[in-house]
Amino acid sequence: AAVVAGAVLTGCGILPGSGGDDAAAAAKPSGRVALLLPERAASRYDAADAPYFSQRLKQLCPACEIDYRNAGQDAAEQLSQAEDALAEGAKVLVLTPVDSTAAAKIVELAHDRDVPVVSYDRLVLGTPVDYYVSFDNAKVGRLQAEALLSALGGRARTGEILWINGSPTDNNATLFKKGAHETLDGEVRVAAEFDTPEWDPANAEAWTARTLKSLGGRELVGVYAANDGTAGGAIKAMRAAGLPAVPVTGQDAEVAALQRILAGSQHMTVYKAVRLEAEKTAELAFELLRGGRPEVGGSVDNGAGGVPSLLLDPVTVTKDNIEETVIRDGYVTPGALCAGA
Ligand code: BGC
Repeated sequence: AAVVAGAVLTGCGILPGSGGDDAAAAAKPSGRVALLLPERAASRYDAADAPYFSQRLKQLCPACEIDYRNAGQDAAEQLSQAEDALAEGAKVLVLTPVDSTAAAKIVELAHDRDVPVVSYDRLVLGTPVDYYVSFDNAKVGRLQAEALLSALGGRARTGEILWINGSPTDNNATLFKKGAHETLDGEVRVAAEFDTPEWDPANAEAWTARTLKSLGGRELVGVYAANDGTAGGAIKAMRAAGLPAVPVTGQDAEVAALQRILAGSQHMTVYKAVRLEAEKTAELAFELLRGGRPEVGGSVDNGAGGVPSLLLDPVTVTKDNIEETVIRDGYVTPGALCAGA
């Protein structure tokens, strides 16, 4: 079969067993791949990462088994899920760590069994890792900050913002925070800043409610929130306190967040093409299963040397470009956005 440029992403014409690729079909690859995802408060993992990864791997390798486990934001649980997956014969681990530092243990256990590890979306720190597939996460923070600044305009000088970061155990949260500070420091006044334990929207909501009470009569002009879950928590607390809507940032292009953007209570989100991230990772896992060591171009230092890395580009989404971004990509359907709005 002819393989056109880009076909590797959509899966046309290169499927083993489809009759088009005799070499791949003859090799009849098989094996078990563990997909270890971190939590369920963000909808992406169950709704997008897991199904897109599984579909692509099954296309490439119908005989492969996918062992999907979700740690529910519990690092100890993730370690035991990894131990079980390895004991049950996983030949490749695709891991989004709950705790980027503690997960070094998981990578070491895998390497003891010669099982390669792909650090998926979040980087594992402090031990050699085989591959890293993610987005430019400092850029995510910069995009959030730039959108907030432009929405604030002159009000950046007249009032203060609340600042809500992600979980301090997630290396991505560190990068979002860094990128946002690079852009906002010196440009806004920050009433208070918070690192949200476990990325839990309820923690962001409770902190916002407490902090609003301590503001007295000071004017709140905006909220930097690291993702859509924490944005939703902050917006709930502001609404409960009877405050008018102010620009709030987010990330993940969750349906609930896009609905808030359309309704005007959230200013922006960051769309990360999770389908591409998941499919690229499935292709990589498949190569690793076959004993390959593909070149991926980039490298990111995780404190134990350079990790071969593939970093995708995040995109700002506001009311003005929902159509050309998440809808056009098929990440959400217009029907889903209208339901319940
Ligand atoms: C991911 C975000 C997600 C957050 C909470 C981050 O590491 O990159 O997409 O919203 O974790 O799960």
